[in-house]
Amino acid sequence: MIDIADATAGTGVVAGLGYAPALWVKAAPVLPAGHDAVLDESLRDAETARWHSAVETVSARLARRARHATGAAAQVLEATAAMAGDTGLRRAATKSLTAGTTAEAATDAAVEQFMAKFHKLGGLMAERTADLKDIRNRVISELLGLPEPGVPTPESPVILLADDLAPADTATLDPSLIHGIATRLGGPTSHTAIIARQLGIPCVVAAAGLGAIADGTVVLLDGAAGTVEAGSDPAAAQAQVHADAARRAALQSWQGPGRTQDGTAVELLANVQDGAGARAAAAFPAQGVGLFRTELCFLSAQAEPSVAEQADIYGEVFAAFAGRKVIVRTLDAGSDKPVPFVAHPEEENPALGVRGIRLGQADPGLLERQLDAIALAAQRQGISAAKAMAPMVATLDEARAFAAACRARNLSPGIMVEVPSVALLAEAFLAEVDFMSIGTNDLTQYTMAADRMAPSLAALTDPWQPAVLHLIRSAAAAGRSLNKAVGVCGEAAADPLLACVLMGLGVNSLSMAPNALAAVGLQLQSVTLTQCQLLAQAVLRCTTAREARTTARGMLS
Ligand code: PEP
Ligand code: MG
Repeated sequence: MIDIADATAGTGVVAGLGYAPALWVKAAPVLPAGHDAVLDESLRDAETARWHSAVETVSARLARRARHATGAAAQVLEATAAMAGDTGLRRAATKSLTAGTTAEAATDAAVEQFMAKFHKLGGLMAERTADLKDIRNRVISELLGLPEPGVPTPESPVILLADDLAPADTATLDPSLIHGIATRLGGPTSHTAIIARQLGIPCVVAAAGLGAIADGTVVLLDGAAGTVEAGSDPAAAQAQVHADAARRAALQSWQGPGRTQDGTAVELLANVQDGAGARAAAAFPAQGVGLFRTELCFLSAQAEPSVAEQADIYGEVFAAFAGRKVIVRTLDAGSDKPVPFVAHPEEENPALGVRGIRLGQADPGLLERQLDAIALAAQRQGISAAKAMAPMVATLDEARAFAAACRARNLSPGIMVEVPSVALLAEAFLAEVDFMSIGTNDLTQYTMAADRMAPSLAALTDPWQPAVLHLIRSAAAAGRSLNKAVGVCGEAAADPLLACVLMGLGVNSLSMAPNALAAVGLQLQSVTLTQCQLLAQAVLRCTTAREARTTARGMLS
């Protein structure tokens, strides 16, 4: 039996168990006394040269590590190396150095200035402030002749603990030595989470109480439950870890299709962002694409691609899943996903502003051209009534107008359920379109009035929140009563336990990151539809997210 002496709860972002001594990431350097002195004019050129040399060293070191990394890890390191050499940052530091500040103070001030800018931009940019802080710490350590801050290279397995991991740290982690990661800060979309997912390292973020765990304390980290526990019985913990490793190995053998133990079918689909992503997803047991986030194809496009160019891009996704279902979502530009060629007005609250389908207010042609491109891509592949889906729909008028625009092009219209108004009036909305897909990321954000990017609000931006579950039930019930497809394509679909609940609530497809498919498929295969329905009834009676999760876990264990 495990005797839990001390459990710290956070948000689990990569499922899996790790059991090893905790190791804290080295602290950031402290600015030395006298760093705020004003230097004599005669010393300023030398100080500027000292600063440049430190930045070059740090940037070159990061670029070198990028060359030895692969995939997303290499991209993150390259981006951090580029940020270290950014001209804006250099300009800000040079200005301070010319005014007589020390190299350490110039670094600190320039980075502070950019962090404030990133914070103000919010969303994904705000999450990048960890990258800037990382650069500051590396440059200041270099200037002070200190060893590079960040993750030490352990000689035996550890659970890595940190306030927040910088990308340069996470990118070079060795999964054979790092058996788990827990951070005090960070959200499900932070770099820590992205890299941990890529490396398959169990990971918990936003674990506020982590500070109580001292270096060397042996801890059991559960990336599914989102907990880090000290004081577990060693034999029992090891047994759990081995069982978990066996379970993860078994995942590799699952080939689909999605169905419950008693044979009820549930479509298991992939979320993709472009042709390359779709081709990669096709190697997984995905039955189709439940969400093609088209805006992610254009995050750096300065000009709107022509209809023909767009059709080429969409065609790649249709081709990768030829003969299978593909749902193309129209541009969800705005908020945390700014697309350069889409005019974004200055907004106080971009998540509540002009994004998704609302972009049509200022530029109806944007949607028209995109639908033309989807129709053209479908026609080239001989697909009739390809599925197009609108994001951020909030009113029936929007749904009606979108449906009419789709039908005029022989496209089958669908809408996302991301705004509570749609879930509340689900039948009326579904009557206008052919299908709906529940975007639990935004549905949770808007139901709980909590920014999905804010790590401090992770407990609120939790799809297990009972109010969110009730809204999902409402949307799924509309599907049953009108006999139309209602699926889930938010992150909730990738949580194997929640997937059973969603199935019990009545959804008929689940779309997720491709590498989550096997875990969800295996879990669904182990339960009957009746069990799922009983789970759903039980969680709907719960009054907190924690109680809902614990209740569901208890019923399936
Ligand atoms: C969602 O909101 O759940 C969703 C799938 O859309 P996105 O994450 O792209 O906003
Ligand atoms: Mg969304």
